[in-house]
Amino acid sequence: WLAHYPPEVPHTLTYPSIPVQEYLTKAYEDFPQKTAIHFLGKDVSYEELYQSAMKMANYLQKLGIQKGDRVSIMLPNCPQAVISFYGILYAGGVVVMTNPLYTEREISYQMNDSGAKAIISLDILFPRINKVLKETKLENVIITGIKDYLAFPKNLVYPFIQKKQYGMVVKVEHRGLNHLFTEIMKTASPNISEPPFDFEEDLALLQYTGGTTGSPKGVMLTHRNLISNATMCDAWLYKSTRGEETIMGIIPLFHVYGLTTVLILSVMQGNKMVLLPKFDPEQALKTINKQKPTLFPGAPTLYIGLLNHPDIAKYDLSSIEACLSGSAPLPTEVQEKFERITGGKLVEGYGLTETSPVSHSNLVWGERTKGSIGMPYPDTDSEIFLPGTTEPVPNGEIGEIAIKGPQVMKGYWNRPDDTAATIVDGWLLTGDLGYMNDEGQFFIVDRKKDMIIAGGFNIYPREIEEILYEHEAIQECVVAGIPDPYRGETVKAYIVLKEGYTVTEEQLDKHCREHLAAFKVPRIYEFRKELPKTAVGKILRRSLVDEEVAKRDEA
Ligand code: AMP
Repeated sequence: WLAHYPPEVPHTLTYPSIPVQEYLTKAYEDFPQKTAIHFLGKDVSYEELYQSAMKMANYLQKLGIQKGDRVSIMLPNCPQAVISFYGILYAGGVVVMTNPLYTEREISYQMNDSGAKAIISLDILFPRINKVLKETKLENVIITGIKDYLAFPKNLVYPFIQKKQYGMVVKVEHRGLNHLFTEIMKTASPNISEPPFDFEEDLALLQYTGGTTGSPKGVMLTHRNLISNATMCDAWLYKSTRGEETIMGIIPLFHVYGLTTVLILSVMQGNKMVLLPKFDPEQALKTINKQKPTLFPGAPTLYIGLLNHPDIAKYDLSSIEACLSGSAPLPTEVQEKFERITGGKLVEGYGLTETSPVSHSNLVWGERTKGSIGMPYPDTDSEIFLPGTTEPVPNGEIGEIAIKGPQVMKGYWNRPDDTAATIVDGWLLTGDLGYMNDEGQFFIVDRKKDMIIAGGFNIYPREIEEILYEHEAIQECVVAGIPDPYRGETVKAYIVLKEGYTVTEEQLDKHCREHLAAFKVPRIYEFRKELPKTAVGKILRRSLVDEEVAKRDEA
């Protein structure tokens, strides 16, 4: 593929050997008064962000956090998440991003596995943390509230909204293990004792993922991993003009995708990030209309959610120049429609937590290939191997996508066997099936474990989903292989219809038969109001299959 590398981007870049947090120091020095974060009507300047992060670092060091200690952040997108991230790093700690939707059991597992010593979270999440505190090694809990960073008068009315939404207003006091974020900001000094630093080896982040095998594992990402990936993303995608861009931050910062392409990249370039605590299409459209973001990383379900909003035409989305879609396949229909409406470019990329996360993408500013995940990033090598081996297959043949590069994780936390099975001869084996064409463009076919084997045929759900998405009535769909006594597995499609549309199974069957070989056509359709999704909007195909298996077991 190197022979076809686009002339627009150098295939090798230079990366500064600095800790990630130094980007914030630099942005503060260059643009103290510029807005670093916009959040629900309030601006936080680079000076305030820097000072706040230093205060957090100072406080954490006083609590005994030392170099290499893990500190969890369990927050939705909000300024406190950004302050905490940089604060933990300034203190020399390692960030553990925790999904705010986690149940008590999941919190307990992640705190124990990572050995986190402190957690920074939200008042409404506190009861869940408090219940498992004793089973973990957590020594301190720092609590904040969404209202702490809301502009007047939103901060005054927020407790009422919270009560209505969550049925509670939690009062957390500053005593014992509990510390209040607002107190820290008022009382801590913005001075730290600077920890020693090793660019290659030091971890910045422990990011939990199911990975290629089921149980959640901590992916060890170093400062080098994150800096190289943010630099690659900027060179390939954004080409941002330092200090002049606005990045839309709807994807969660607690997933490495949002962390690298919003939280780090925005600060790296002294840009402004506009954060929203959750995805609400109307609020997102209003915010784009007003804040005029130029860059907007997302996932297909997010773009689909916006496109299907009945009033989308009322909003001015023309500021959007470049969008990266990752995490799941981007239907061509969605890409084209989004580009038509915004006038910007929406390109598909690919990667995984283990690659910090982006390894391939199409070019925003150059040629793009429809349906392709593009080419490997600068300094990134990629091959298609015979699954489970490091033997390349010929162009056009399906195999396992493998990746080598400075963004590839150091390994799984405390799991040398899993690391050895996943990084083989320096290659990260992704567990994703794909192929490369003669022009060096990569295509993802499916995850190894999502491939359906029905009646001896290999069937890739993504291909069927693409066809279903072409049907005008379909808003969202996912195809899965469910257990079948005769065929091993059978193809089932789960469908969410657009508002105001109806369609019969027969009509969908006819549509699929026109475009797909008979053995790929879904045998079963199920219509649903919504589909289960991860925090980044990836449809949880596995949980639908599990539901199916449980139903059958019960029967
Ligand atoms: P995560 O570690 O949560 O970021 O999930 C990574 C997985 O998401 C990959 O291994 C792929 O299976 C999937 N993925 C990422 N990008 C794409 C894409 N553009 N198309 C299809 N699947 C994708």
